[in-house]
Amino acid sequence: MTSTQPPVSSILDDLAECRPWQEDFYRQLHQHPELSHQEHETASAVATRLRDNGFEVTEGIGGTGVVGRLRNGDGPCVLLRADMDALPVEEATGLPYASTATAPNASSGSAEQVPVMHACGHDVHVTCLLGAAELLARHQDAWSGTLITLFQPAEELGDGARRMVDDGLAGVVGAVDVAMAQHVLPGVAGTVGTRAGAVLSAADSMRVTVHGRGAHGSMPQAAVDPVVLAAMIVVRLQGVVSREVAPTNPAVLTVGSIHAGTKSNVIGDHAVLELNVRTYDEQTRSTVLDAIRRIVVAECQASRSPAEPEFELYDRFPPTVNDAEATARVHAAFADHFGENVGELPLQSASEDFSDVPTALGVPYTYWGIGGTDPDTYRAAVVAGTVDSDIPVNHSPYFAPVMQPTLDTGTSALVVAALAWLGR
Ligand code: ZN
Ligand code: ZN
Repeated sequence: MTSTQPPVSSILDDLAECRPWQEDFYRQLHQHPELSHQEHETASAVATRLRDNGFEVTEGIGGTGVVGRLRNGDGPCVLLRADMDALPVEEATGLPYASTATAPNASSGSAEQVPVMHACGHDVHVTCLLGAAELLARHQDAWSGTLITLFQPAEELGDGARRMVDDGLAGVVGAVDVAMAQHVLPGVAGTVGTRAGAVLSAADSMRVTVHGRGAHGSMPQAAVDPVVLAAMIVVRLQGVVSREVAPTNPAVLTVGSIHAGTKSNVIGDHAVLELNVRTYDEQTRSTVLDAIRRIVVAECQASRSPAEPEFELYDRFPPTVNDAEATARVHAAFADHFGENVGELPLQSASEDFSDVPTALGVPYTYWGIGGTDPDTYRAAVVAGTVDSDIPVNHSPYFAPVMQPTLDTGTSALVVAALAWLGR
């Protein structure tokens, strides 16, 4: 690592002092993961640490969300965000600090106990942001402005950030100049990747119910057959991405589920289709969603459907489109600090709800990736051409970032990025 900016080097000299508590905190958090909207212990541990470092802390925003604010004179306001939730996945890493936790799977509406694991690395995000908060709090001589640390619930459900926004987040954080977040991903630990423009897809699930008229299977003249209607819709939807979206704009429209009827000689009276849409900008997103509605309505009319179709959108994630200027600023600061360990983050097909925060606040944002795989293991897999089969990805029961240099890198990245605005 090289460090050419004086405030960065003076602050990161203390990284070694934070490392022991950060590693303890990480192991503890990894061993005690909490599902979306159940992040009570995590939130309270976060709030305690922020208070110990002199932050003004607001808890319980949008459920379990926590915001820390450190005012340090005049200057810009930088918001750094970490997500706190874990997944209903049974950990198979075999690590000494592997999770054996279980919890009621409230998001599925059942009281059934499910295994819980930090399989997306949000424990890394929380630990790094707490480390960055401590380092910046210790070195207030090196910067000026306001630092906001935001710990959000339920990223995995796509509604944690929105719930914080709906619960008055804007009033808690005040005027913000830039918002930033990071995610640990498969890749060489110690590296960081930025990307201007689209970085993560928007995701929308849609449940479509179409109505027919039930009758005996031998008397189709008395029926409006919902199976034929649904089949026509499925075929017609295949033309949306291929005929209505520019080939330079990536988009996916999948009909993942279709249910109609009960028996071979009974024509049912309705069909339910479940669709998933992935797009990378708001315009393509509305083009695809509007086309689905138009086609379904038209096919219902063509089939003499006796009632209007119903549409229900759920599991929605906004697109993540990094601000070009903010990204260039962060990239330059990373290049100064990380040298050859900074690169370009490839376009990701996954989705995130982080952008709901800056969008609601009307501020630019940037979101970057950090590698979490043991460098030798990753490089060997690249050479062998086995990255896809051998390197566990997020949400896998084997996903376990190596603690170092991942924690050091994620912590440094947040400090370096914040100082690109706040540094004296
Ligand atoms: Zn995830
Ligand atoms: Zn995640």
